[in-house]
Amino acid sequence: MKIAIVGFGITGAALAVLLSRRGVTVELFEQSTVVGPVGAGILLQPVGQQVLSAMGLLDEAVQHAEKITEIRVRTHRGHQLVHLRYDEWTPGLCAYGLHRGRLFEALRKTLAATSTLTHLNTRILKCDSQDYGATLIDAQGNIFGPFDWVFGCDGGNSTMLQVSSLKFRDYKYTCGALWYIGRTERIRGHLFQATKGTQRLCGLLPTGHGECSFFWGATAEEAHSIRSDFDKWKVEALRIFPESEEILSDLQGPSALLFTTWRHRNLPHCVNGRLLLMGDAAHASSPHLGQGVNLGLLDAWVFDQIFGQCGNWAEAANHYAKRRQRHRSFYAELTYLLSPFFQSTHNVLSFPRDVALPLLNSIPLFRRQMISVLTGMRYDWWGGTYKLHL
Ligand SMILES: Cc1cc2nc3c(=O)[nH]c(=O)nc-3n(C[C@H](O)[C@H](O)[C@H](O)COP(=O)(O)OP(=O)(O)OC[C@H]3O[C@@H](n4cnc5c(N)ncnc54)[C@H](O)[C@@H]3O)c2cc1C
Repeated sequence: MKIAIVGFGITGAALAVLLSRRGVTVELFEQSTVVGPVGAGILLQPVGQQVLSAMGLLDEAVQHAEKITEIRVRTHRGHQLVHLRYDEWTPGLCAYGLHRGRLFEALRKTLAATSTLTHLNTRILKCDSQDYGATLIDAQGNIFGPFDWVFGCDGGNSTMLQVSSLKFRDYKYTCGALWYIGRTERIRGHLFQATKGTQRLCGLLPTGHGECSFFWGATAEEAHSIRSDFDKWKVEALRIFPESEEILSDLQGPSALLFTTWRHRNLPHCVNGRLLLMGDAAHASSPHLGQGVNLGLLDAWVFDQIFGQCGNWAEAANHYAKRRQRHRSFYAELTYLLSPFFQSTHNVLSFPRDVALPLLNSIPLFRRQMISVLTGMRYDWWGGTYKLHL
């Protein structure tokens, strides 16, 4: 049994670990020349923790992480919009703030102990599914395979999706965020965000030992003017968000701020021929609910569990597609619905937001619904929660 995974991100790495542990021969294809501890701070939600724990990797992944017990959002005037405690859902429950690279390193180290063959600097451009197997073609024209099955885990800009002939719809947000990793002791134990209308959203996510991820929501145009008038922007940032003083004093110049944009993807069916899409390739969305990495881990886990039961690639892929559809659609739809209330040019949306959120937050029933969404375990609009084991 030989399979190919295109994309050595969190989803691809987790899937490679799981399937190689089943004795499957895995070949991993990554376009970057080096892979390593890069990326922003991420929130590892309870669902992601459960997957890592079942893989035996949780302790290592979170050993330097920050325990996040609550989420706080306020307006620039200091009015509290959201204050949610994870342990209201289940005593002891928390998220972890960690650098994406630490999670990646934990997966990579585990993978190094398996027989997985990794092809770096290999950008796959084509996947050809035939009766005898699937072959991959890279940018240099090299042909790899045949493989029993191919997994497209190549992220939001997925080439595998483009060449899959699957129907999908993409919406590219005009907004994204500038982000930076620095140090501050000011915010500890919680994710802190501040808003001003829908045009300003900024946040601090502690990622352990005083390290912190700073986010500043911006369009590409705003990111450009921030870079060209950095000192003026710093003054505005400190006015809206004085909690960021320590981390911003650390920030030497605009080149340390990295810019990224979001997209929303609607992919009703994720299997075609011998190709299955997973992670951001299948369900890219804005990170406002902090679920991307968690959903990618869950994708890998669920596929592995189903494959372990049926032992047949096509059957497992089709079963997987049905089983994951509801959960990933729920998070995609909710993120798509909520994002304009936090980051958009429709400033008018901030009024209902600023009235409704504190109200809902003060009612225990609604507060619990909001926390259940954050955990990543929420299955549908009616309150069902995901069961990790089949
Ligand atoms: C600023 C920011 C903050 C975020 N915060 C959170 C958070 O708090 N919580 C959370 O859960 N998620 C968060 N996310 C989202 C999260 O980072 C993504 O959902 C997650 O990384 C997706 O993982 P993936 O493995 O599916 O894709 P990726 O991480 O994008 O990995 C895809 C890999 O495929 C490779 N690749 C692409 N095309 C090809 C090709 N043709 N051939 C070979 N290789 C290819 C890429 O180089 C890459 O290594 C955040 C994202 C950003 C940008």
